[in-house]
Amino acid sequence: MGVPFDGTSSFRRGSSLAPDQIRAVYENLESFDPYYAVDFTDIPITDLGNLEVNSDVREVISLVDLSVSTIRGDGKIPIMMGGEHSITIGAIKNYTDADLIIIDAHSDFRESYGGSAYSHACVTRRCLDILGDGRITSIGTRSISREEYESKDINRVSFISSAEVRKSGIELIVDEVEKSIRGDVYLSIDMDGFDPSFAPAVGTPEPYGLTPWDARYLMNRLGKRIIGFDIVEFSPIYDNGNTAMLAAKLIQDFIGSRETSKVFH
Ligand code: MN
Ligand code: MN
Repeated sequence: MGVPFDGTSSFRRGSSLAPDQIRAVYENLESFDPYYAVDFTDIPITDLGNLEVNSDVREVISLVDLSVSTIRGDGKIPIMMGGEHSITIGAIKNYTDADLIIIDAHSDFRESYGGSAYSHACVTRRCLDILGDGRITSIGTRSISREEYESKDINRVSFISSAEVRKSGIELIVDEVEKSIRGDVYLSIDMDGFDPSFAPAVGTPEPYGLTPWDARYLMNRLGKRIIGFDIVEFSPIYDNGNTAMLAAKLIQDFIGSRETSKVFH
């Protein structure tokens, strides 16, 4: 489903246009993927369309919470196309038994921002309130305020910088993450986690980012444990086409990682 909400975006808006843009590109992808040996038309996938959102972030979060609850109650796996990152807060309320993995350039660890505790700059902090200590891993971090960096709560979340991923390689990073998670996983991909050369159309771009291969490998390894997924902060008005294509492909990667009979190491 799409959640076309960008009400708290601080720098470059436009992520409300992302769900329809991702759909348009997804329609043009080949339905068979040899990497997974999966034909996506064989898999029961439903597009529920876009949620009708207003400008009140708290109401949008409640609506997302209810929608994800309904989808999960139906035995299905939600894939949410944002919209801005704050929508993850609504989804995660349904995953209190799961661990959360975030891909993001930013720590999103502010107590409040722009007068709101539910700003997209506060997502990790709000998810920490819901999930508690040692349950959140954020990968690709390279932008954090001094206040967040020096916060007494910073070690309650595992932040893995993009520099660490580059130095150690994603394989070792996923080995470590896999050891720390207990069961099922919710995955939230903020598109600015990628390097702007791969994903230029985001609200707040940051150089020195992850590659698409990093995210794909993470999904390949953990995919069968991922029971909820969102992709956020893509802002089509800044796109050259590549960000939309990557977002659409990541959805196929998520589904492919779950459905493939291949085993990845
Ligand atoms: Mn974010
Ligand atoms: Mn971000």
